[in-house]
Amino acid sequence: VLYFMLPLAGIGFTIVIPILVALTLKKTQITNKPRRRANKNWEKQAGYLAENVSNLSTIKAMSTEKNSTRIYSNYQNLILKNRLLQFKYETLYDLLRDIIGDMAIVASIAYVAIMAIKGKLNAGDVFLIAFYARDLINSIQPFSRFMNKVAETEVTTGRLVKMLETKPTIVDMPDSVVLDGIKSIEFKNVYFQYPDSTKGAVSNINFKISNGKSIALVGPSGTGKSTITKLLLRFYEPTSGQILINDQDISSYTQYSIRQHLAIVMQDVALFNATIKENLAIANADVDDSVIQKASQMAHADEFIANLDKGYDTLVGERGIKLSGGQKQRIAIARAILKNPELIILDEATSALDSQSEKLVQDALKKLLADKMSLIIAHRLSTVRHVDEIIVLQNGRIIERGNHSYLINKKGLYEQLFSLQSKTGMVDL
Ligand code: ADP
Repeated sequence: VLYFMLPLAGIGFTIVIPILVALTLKKTQITNKPRRRANKNWEKQAGYLAENVSNLSTIKAMSTEKNSTRIYSNYQNLILKNRLLQFKYETLYDLLRDIIGDMAIVASIAYVAIMAIKGKLNAGDVFLIAFYARDLINSIQPFSRFMNKVAETEVTTGRLVKMLETKPTIVDMPDSVVLDGIKSIEFKNVYFQYPDSTKGAVSNINFKISNGKSIALVGPSGTGKSTITKLLLRFYEPTSGQILINDQDISSYTQYSIRQHLAIVMQDVALFNATIKENLAIANADVDDSVIQKASQMAHADEFIANLDKGYDTLVGERGIKLSGGQKQRIAIARAILKNPELIILDEATSALDSQSEKLVQDALKKLLADKMSLIIAHRLSTVRHVDEIIVLQNGRIIERGNHSYLINKKGLYEQLFSLQSKTGMVDL
């Protein structure tokens, strides 16, 4: 209509609209940088906060609150600085856009008014054109808002996609097969060096677990006990040597299927913000209540669970009840009993429990480990007396091995550690 009635006004808008669009695009481009930086620092700050909250007692104990606050504030300042920069550019460009847009409207009204005075347009035409002009300019604003949203979304989803695309370090080989049961586990001349380390963490590791045998790893801290279990869990690949399951290299099986046949009972028991029942049946969600209860009874957990307000439906964690260390361990043991795997990896807790709880945990563990293959990281030597083979490590190497009585008679490191623990109670290993 505009072109037809007033060619000059039409041409004017043809020039102004692309300028406004170009301004909006430029704004998006310029504000993306500070937006990205602000978001990145915000993520870091959130991560730092989570880390600090979970380590609150350590931070308090080490009196490093001031340092934590300083680091947190640094992130805050960076976020603020970049957000301000982003808003500054946004406001600047919006202002420029509005000025040009308004000038275009004013110019068009003036032009139309002159035309009307000259008698070339009647009152109806003037209104019509004024409305069109306003609509045209206003239509840029939603576009600008839309571009803002696009920019914000692009920056955020970009980070998310990057995170999701992170490939695990160890992937299944294309021809890997499903492991249908564990009959034996063997470490053969295993040497391992952490990727960022210059010296080996463990070397010359040889042992075999089969037919319901249990092996305990013993030794001062930092000697490679956890490293061995991490290798077995395939968090890392041996630098050299081999780990075999049923006499086949561990890498010939899918990782998922390996983990289905083992259970891990760790010192730090991870419980979810869910009911006790859900926490127990984590490996198999559709298991019967009676089976859950039976496993809990074996783990000496049934009694304290039954005494809770809502029994097995009681919420644990942040939103629910707090469990003691011993109770959490018994939940973890019941969980492993329910999974009923062929191999148990046990990282015995170092923290001392009260003696009653300790007795119950030990008894529950005995039931869990009965007739199963197990690899135990032992911190209390009193608990490894009945293990088939004790492997004593020092500086990542096996220095002694054998059963309890053999090692005691040998009068080596094991015997020294054992007598030290017998005298002083607990020694942190
Ligand atoms: P343990 O379980 O007996 O206390 P670890 O297996 O944790 O001992 O540690 C063995 C050695 O490997 C130590 O020297 C330790 O510093 C090193 N180590 C452990 N984890 C890592 C890691 N993620 N990166 C580099 N070195 C590590």
